[in-house]
Amino acid sequence: MNRCKKMAIVAHCILNGNAKVEGICEYEGALKDVINYLMDANYGIIQLPCPETIIYGIKRWGHVKEQFDTPHFRDQSQELLKPVLQQVKNYLDNGYTIDLLVGVDGSPSCGIYKTCSGAEWGGFSSNSNMNEKIKNMEFISEKGIFMDELINMLEANQIDMKYVAIDENNVEESLKYLKSLL
Ligand code: SF4
Repeated sequence: MNRCKKMAIVAHCILNGNAKVEGICEYEGALKDVINYLMDANYGIIQLPCPETIIYGIKRWGHVKEQFDTPHFRDQSQELLKPVLQQVKNYLDNGYTIDLLVGVDGSPSCGIYKTCSGAEWGGFSSNSNMNEKIKNMEFISEKGIFMDELINMLEANQIDMKYVAIDENNVEESLKYLKSLL
């Protein structure tokens, strides 16, 4: 039996950039630097669902964390994550190792160390001050909603993991951090 019994949980769009809001993906398919590194390190990959594509579809606008911080989005995130957690627990109970979670920094859903925030964001219409609202978006040191729910669920089940988040604007630095953890 050649299997390595080692796995990482990876945000959906790192394997499938097509799920991102149209216009903001910097790569064609998968984020190869990250995936190739994990493959070379003999990691099996558990791909998380993309909550935004499932809930809002591929024609969605870009959002900020405040727009997703609703009971419904949190509840839906938990529903999407329950089968993932069940798989993780089953693997762990049977001698497998799952010790790495890879998120996407800057995302209102999948950020781990950084998410986008805009208290004024929303209510866009032809007679609203759209540009001013958009300019008020900033990156803050918090988790996105989906990762917040996932990490809460992992912690509630005493499942320890190393957390890495890929910053698409600085993949090299993110990768350096990932390599330092493994
Ligand atoms: S960061 Fe998360 S929500 Fe955004 S596209 Fe990637 S998987 Fe989907």
